[in-house]
Amino acid sequence: MGRGLRSGEIQQQKLINLLQFRRWLLGGLVCLTTMIGASGCASLRQVLGRELVPVQTEVRLGQQLAQQVETENTILPDAELQRYVRLLAQPLIDQAWADRPDIDYRITVLDDDKQVNAFALPGGPMYVYTGLLALAADEAELAGVLAHELGHVVARHSANQLATSLGVQLLVSISLGEAPEQLAQMAANLAGAGAMARFSRDDERQADDFGVRYTIAAGYDPRGLITLFDKMARLEAGGGNSLDRLLASHPATDERMARIGRRIEATAATGERRAAQYQEMTQSLR
Ligand code: ZN
Repeated sequence: MGRGLRSGEIQQQKLINLLQFRRWLLGGLVCLTTMIGASGCASLRQVLGRELVPVQTEVRLGQQLAQQVETENTILPDAELQRYVRLLAQPLIDQAWADRPDIDYRITVLDDDKQVNAFALPGGPMYVYTGLLALAADEAELAGVLAHELGHVVARHSANQLATSLGVQLLVSISLGEAPEQLAQMAANLAGAGAMARFSRDDERQADDFGVRYTIAAGYDPRGLITLFDKMARLEAGGGNSLDRLLASHPATDERMARIGRRIEATAATGERRAAQYQEMTQSLR
């Protein structure tokens, strides 16, 4: 392969990148000018964050964070339960994969009954704590929260977090300077310091929409999202410290629950809850 051709390809790619960037910058500015008082318009930060964080960087960051998570936590040694949760999540992952096929999705159960939480890392790794498995009453409830997490991954909300943490201006400079290594390094430093911004309310709402859509498409009762969030909210009212992490990342507000309820009613969907099977499989955690 000649050097000239490769250089030509690189120039072409640079041009494409620049054009894409201008398109999104324009979209962002249009968005910014219409943002005041307008609803349903993605913020400038959301638009630019998604465009300026390369998928490769997102995936690498996720891998670094996964290493950190698996060092700081204990992976549940129960292979049968790990497999059960993976099988339960698979129809949801199939839906996510149809929307975003450029990454690998995998789910791991972490052994900590004090943590009522599930979370997704940039680029595909997802984790659920045994504390959340024990709180959920049936497959529909666990499926709901996992589908919500998948929504964060599919919509690339971690890129928005980075835009918040690093600042859009820095992302633009890094992007134009073609230094994705620098971005990955800075992102990892931020994550290591626990300084990743929480998801915005807009991102949470969007993840809820994915959650409803994916659970319905996968054949689960989407009301599982509401019944689980309701239990979490009641735990919060009881002042459980173990919920800090969950509530920090996904505050289950009344407004969100009402909104999810309206979405579900609009579809009039029904689905499976599979309580007996779930209770039997998670019996050891109770
Ligand atoms: Zn969330």
